[in-house]
Order: sequence, then structure tokens, then C-alpha cells
Amino acid sequence: MSDENPICSAKGCRADAVWVLAWNNPKIHTPERRKTWLACEEHREHLSQFLGVRGFLKDVVLLAEWEDRAEEGG
Ligand SMILES: [Zn+2]
Repeated sequence: MSDENPICSAKGCRADAVWVLAWNNPKIHTPERRKTWLACEEHREHLSQFLGVRGFLKDVVLLAEWEDRAEEGG
């Protein structure tokens, strides 16, 4: 078990991630597949827009909530 906090996926950002952006590229992923980016408060909007304009963005949830979902196994 790692004690390192997840870090924001934005280029050059070392801030702790607060948000999970779940996305899917229909050209390369099956519809139920979810890729995830992590984002700090500052970069959530920027990264969401990047995925959103491409039609890839599926969900934006708090990291804590995402981990709860994962534990539920579904
Ligand atoms: Zn960031």
C-alpha cells in the first residue's frame, strides 16, 4: 500500500488530485471501458474541457467517491 497521494494529471502539475475524470474514446475503447485522469481543483475545468470538446468525457467525480465506487465493485 502506497502512502503517496495521487497527483493531478495536468502537465507539470504536482498538486494532489481531488477529482477523477472518467473518459472513453469510442474509436479505440469499448463503450464500457473507462480511462481516468486525475485533477486538482485548479485543473479540473481545463482537463474536463479538453475531453469534453472531443466527446470523450463521461463522468467527473470526487476522488474519494470514485474510490468508494471501486470498493463496491461496480
Ligand atoms: Zn493540477
